[in-house]
Amino acid sequence: MKTIYLDNNATTKVAEEVFEEIKPYFCELYGNPSSMHTFGGQIGRKIREAREKVAAILGCDPSEVIFTGCGTESDNTAIKSTLAAYPNKRKVITTRVEHPAVLSICRELDSHGYTVVELAVDRYGRLDIEQLETQLDDDTAIVTIMFANNETGVIFPVEKIAEMVADKGIVFHTDAVQAVGKVPMNLAKSSIDLLSLSGHKLHAPKGIGVLYVRKGTRLAPFMLGGHQEGGRRAGTENVPGIIGLGRACELAAKNFEQENKKVKNLRDKLEKAILEKCPDCMVNGSPENRLPNTTNISFEFIEGEAILLMLDKFGICASSGSACTSGSLEPSHVLRAMGVPFTAAHGSIRFSLSRYNTEEEIDYAIEKIPPIITRLRELSPFVTK
Ligand code: PLP
Repeated sequence: MKTIYLDNNATTKVAEEVFEEIKPYFCELYGNPSSMHTFGGQIGRKIREAREKVAAILGCDPSEVIFTGCGTESDNTAIKSTLAAYPNKRKVITTRVEHPAVLSICRELDSHGYTVVELAVDRYGRLDIEQLETQLDDDTAIVTIMFANNETGVIFPVEKIAEMVADKGIVFHTDAVQAVGKVPMNLAKSSIDLLSLSGHKLHAPKGIGVLYVRKGTRLAPFMLGGHQEGGRRAGTENVPGIIGLGRACELAAKNFEQENKKVKNLRDKLEKAILEKCPDCMVNGSPENRLPNTTNISFEFIEGEAILLMLDKFGICASSGSACTSGSLEPSHVLRAMGVPFTAAHGSIRFSLSRYNTEEEIDYAIEKIPPIITRLRELSPFVTK
């Protein structure tokens, strides 16, 4: 059976070009870039090139790119290292809809006596920026607000927010794990101080991430040990991961507009067909400011898990809630924060596409999904019609 992979916000396929490029760095060119010998030292040049490619897609200077182990590490570092750099400040501002990589840290800080403000969102998943402005004060060490939501694809106006935060002299971090490669970025022209990205969301391998740190931003290192990454992140470099991420960024930047347009057209086709063919369903999240690849649809009266199992029988991969929260029966914290009714939040499915999806795959999904929904509704005790 063929696999129709519509779960690209969970992880993505490693691009063939990336795989080809990193292969030699496992069994042939396996040296340590910190070594004095040529065999290891030659790797340093490849890392420099990769750093330049990452900097190019972010629109920043290569010296502002720190390689980390994943998006979660970048998020954790951004928050904890800023707090360590400003020990007298005890307030953190975030939103209710962040990924657990940010929310868990914030909730831990709350239990350690920090003041943590979780900003609310409206029914469309949008932030009230004025609400943020009233919270910015001298005690605030960091504001951390995601670029784009992993569950709904809703994009926050982080550049505008960063300016507002910078005006008060406060550090601004954004989790851009879902946004890089899908939304154009020019960090040199923005007031964003810290930004997280993750390789495996943009066709690089798992286990590589980046923390962008604007020149001059105060940050106490999180990982201590060797002198890698200019002393800002200790630990022997994940050489294949770094080289792969560089290549993946280069590929994403190359056909940026065309590919995102193609993905958006496929996403819109899928979404439109589902809304037309399935009664009692709705899209969660602002339709205007959304990632081009994501749609989150609530199917009333049925369980998301049941839909996923039926989709799986036809080889269609999607998810209910984020990959990290699926498996639990709690409805997604993002949809609950948006005020999506309990019954609709329970029956929500996220479809997330990539440049590798084809029109045929979307047609196949459009053919299979409506009968699955009809069948599950026939079995549902909640349907009274
Ligand atoms: N932030 C967001 C918005 C994400 O979607 C994810 C992964 O799903 C992460 C952070 C964590 O990234 P990683 O899997 O690289 O740790």
